[in-house]
Amino acid sequence: MIEHFFQCPYCWQDISMLLDSSITHQSYIEDCENCCNPIQIEMSFTDTV
Ligand SMILES: [Zn+2]
Repeated sequence: MIEHFFQCPYCWQDISMLLDSSITHQSYIEDCENCCNPIQIEMSFTDTV
């Protein structure tokens, strides 16, 4: 698992989340821990270390 930081598009709060780097492409909805708005997360790992 790797920790990924991104910014909430609603409140601009920095949010950290854990992603499974063994999955090359993942897309899901995560609720912002600050403003509770649902954020569509789309991550793809093109280069796995
Ligand atoms: Zn937010």
